[in-house]
Amino acid sequence: MKVTVDDDSCRGHGVCCTLCPEVFDLSDDGYAVVETPDVPAEFEDAVRSAAGMCPEHAITVS
Ligand code: SF4
Repeated sequence: MKVTVDDDSCRGHGVCCTLCPEVFDLSDDGYAVVETPDVPAEFEDAVRSAAGMCPEHAITVS
């Protein structure tokens, strides 16, 4: 599974970082960055939850 964040949509709420800090981090300017675009199997559920709960729908999983 792969995950990306749309930089233009992200507003830095940090929901993703709370739900899966192993994959998402906040950059110094306060927006989400993907630390591990190839999501390890053990974090797939958390990443799907983050994608579903992102207020800006900025997270895409494939
Ligand atoms: S939850 Fe969505 S809007 Fe918030 S930091 Fe993560 S990707 Fe950005």
